[in-house]
Amino acid sequence: MMAADSGATVLEKKDDSPKIPEKKKTSFDVIIVGAGPAGYTAGIYCSRAGYDTLILSGILPGGQLVNTTEVENYPGFENGIMGPDLMIEMRKQTQRMGTTIVDDEAVNVDFRNSPFKILSGSEEYEGRAIIIATGANPRKLGLEGEQTFAGKGVSYCATCDGPFFRNQELIVVGGGDSAIEEATFLTKFATKIHLVHRRSELRASKIMQERAFNNDKIEFHWNSEIIDIKGDQKMQEGVIRNIQTKEETSLTVGGLFVAIGHEPNTGLFKNQIDLDDEGYIILKNKTHTNIEGIFAAGDVHDRTYRQAITAAGFGCMAAIDVDKYLTEKS
Ligand code: NAP
Repeated sequence: MMAADSGATVLEKKDDSPKIPEKKKTSFDVIIVGAGPAGYTAGIYCSRAGYDTLILSGILPGGQLVNTTEVENYPGFENGIMGPDLMIEMRKQTQRMGTTIVDDEAVNVDFRNSPFKILSGSEEYEGRAIIIATGANPRKLGLEGEQTFAGKGVSYCATCDGPFFRNQELIVVGGGDSAIEEATFLTKFATKIHLVHRRSELRASKIMQERAFNNDKIEFHWNSEIIDIKGDQKMQEGVIRNIQTKEETSLTVGGLFVAIGHEPNTGLFKNQIDLDDEGYIILKNKTHTNIEGIFAAGDVHDRTYRQAITAAGFGCMAAIDVDKYLTEKS
């Protein structure tokens, strides 16, 4: 006869051994600082090449595209894609390839010796190679309405947003090559461009100036500044003031393009790697900085193209250069 089931509960043996906290991984083959298109693309390529890769993404990952609405010029999306959605897709793809992503900010770096050290808010990380992909931010006017109407009329990229402003009047602020290039480009879509510049002469190159002066869709407002941006759901009006006469003029427009320069996010690398007068990283050769093993990709060194697709391209190039560097070292 089989013994009847006693029904007693079998107690699991309690594990009283002291728990050793799992040690967080802090040492990697490659550390990428920044999580815009350049950083994510570099992550995809480095991980696919078999390197143990970390992206320190900062507190607000995604770069400038997180502040954009629809992106129509990134290949692969027939009907366009919202900027934040594009960055979420890039992040997921990067993670699927095996890249570790930590949403923490690099607060200090030590590039004197390899492995290079990067200090975040909570950890010290070590990498055999580093890719700097911290991007740049467009310089802001500092007006209250600039924030309120960002993506609702106020833009910092004519190539990205120009086609959304067909048959409207627009304001462009600035007097450098960017402003003149953007104003000229925008005449393809807009009925009229009001170019507002704080001085009586342009900083832009002569040839670009001539092109703009010969374009009858561009009206120049010299010695002028924009002092207010108004609207309801979207921007509808810009108020400009002549700095000399103090006369104020209200312009009924569909949008405002701010083109007063960019600021690369390189404060962290000052005194560690070579930067130019405006803080952009100087590349010695391809994506190499002046320090062997430290590479850069995207708007942090590129003041010319500044597109998501070119930043992604630079990320790919930096990862290929890192592969070559690490292969030669081992
Ligand atoms: P930029 O040359 O520094 O010009 C910035 C312009 O914005 C200047 O006219 C400046 O006025 C004005 N500005 C600055 N802060 C302002 C403020 N708070 N309020 C109102 N106006 C303000 O910048 P960029 O045009 O972006 O060009 C950057 C670099 O990229 C340059 O070296 C340029 O040659 C290059 N780039 C080249 C091309 C090309 O060759 N196709 C295209 C774009 C850019 P002031 O003149 O009074 O200082």
